[in-house]
Amino acid sequence: MARVSPELQWNTRELHTAQPFGIARWTHSTYPRTFVTLSDGGLSGRGEAAPNAFYGETRGTVEAVLPLLADALTDPWDWDGLHTALSARMPHDHPSVKCALEMAALEWCALSAGVPVWRLLGLSPLALPESSYTVSLASLEDMRTQARDAVGRGHGVLKVKLGTAQDEAILEALREEAPQVALRVDANAAWTRAQAKRLLGVLEAARVELVEQPLAAADLEGHAELRSRSGVPIVADESLHHVSDIVALARAFDGVNLKLAKLGGPLQTLRALRLARAHGLQVMMGCMIESSLGIAAAAHLAGLCDWADLDGALLLADDPFEGLHWSAGHLARPEGPGWGVTPRP
Ligand SMILES: [Mg+2]
Repeated sequence: MARVSPELQWNTRELHTAQPFGIARWTHSTYPRTFVTLSDGGLSGRGEAAPNAFYGETRGTVEAVLPLLADALTDPWDWDGLHTALSARMPHDHPSVKCALEMAALEWCALSAGVPVWRLLGLSPLALPESSYTVSLASLEDMRTQARDAVGRGHGVLKVKLGTAQDEAILEALREEAPQVALRVDANAAWTRAQAKRLLGVLEAARVELVEQPLAAADLEGHAELRSRSGVPIVADESLHHVSDIVALARAFDGVNLKLAKLGGPLQTLRALRLARAHGLQVMMGCMIESSLGIAAAAHLAGLCDWADLDGALLLADDPFEGLHWSAGHLARPEGPGWGVTPRP
């Protein structure tokens, strides 16, 4: 019997955060996410595209390129072939679309084997590091409330968004609200070199565990200089877009924030993770604002990382998937077949 090629379908849903989510560049409440399904032989693998304008993607680019890629996925088991086909058609572009397709292929294979994706990939059954919970940029009073509420729910690691004229006051206020938590800082590329140097002492005094992307994405020299003066580890997020960036980043940063949606999927993220380790970098498994499907995919790899930042779906008011088991910031590794999440009824 002739083999019928897999069928690819997708639909976009607007997801909403429970509260407006603010970082140095913008504040949003609505996030269009495109869900891809690969069906073949009675099984359906699923993926999520979480486009981010910083990496050149929007809902429009995702929906425009997907029809051009439907025939790139001819055999769910041919992962190298999928990567080659997608790279040939979209070199260095559309990482969240590549992620959705890679996720769908991997889940289809895991379902056909009846195992979770992490087992399909032969990954070590390690526990996940505790995930941070984000205190997003808002008024000082609102940020205090966010921190107080998160601590009240049992979170032990907070990641505070900075990049304002009152960063010092925000840190002081949060330390007052939450003296015991591990505090991480994300400036989202908003500080100047002079500002960052001035704030290093403040970060150390506030016992900040790490600082993410203090300077502009392209400023590797500035990050290298900052790192040489800093007692707080400096982690690249916006500076890391492609797997191939890792080698250069190792000279300027202590660690990297790996996100499936910007690196092109779980397999590309695993490549980045190995490369980061080989170059002595610490690794964070991060996420976009995305549903529990996208978070689940990151959770399958997060046991290999030093830090986790997987609160994207916890911030949503209308997460379309369920099945992840959270206890405050502790996410259990998914154990069901595939990604281990199901549509919310
Ligand atoms: Mg970040």
